[in-house]
Amino acid sequence: MIPERANRRRPDSELAPARKEVAQLFNEAERFFLAGDKEMARRRVRAARKAAMKVRLRIPEHNHRFCRECESYLKQGMNCTVRIRDGIRITRCAECGAVRRKVLNGKR
Ligand SMILES: [Zn+2]
Repeated sequence: MIPERANRRRPDSELAPARKEVAQLFNEAERFFLAGDKEMARRRVRAARKAAMKVRLRIPEHNHRFCRECESYLKQGMNCTVRIRDGIRITRCAECGAVRRKVLNGKR
């Protein structure tokens, strides 16, 4: 293992494969989830987050796809509810009941 400084910025050439891997893992998570295997879906979510964290990759495009508390794969209308109220998106995980609020900026 190569020690890493906490906030060192990685060049995109290093992040691209991780980004791809994360997207792939989320796609697999969705497949397992849709097949009814939530545990396998959760494992994929965990693997994806781990892969992202390893290179300190932020994954805003995937952040709404899992529960931060229980790492369940979340699918709107299936195991989470999303409400938008006063410019705040409120996502509730039906698996563990965790609620996340996100202030939406600008245009809606
Ligand atoms: Zn949850």
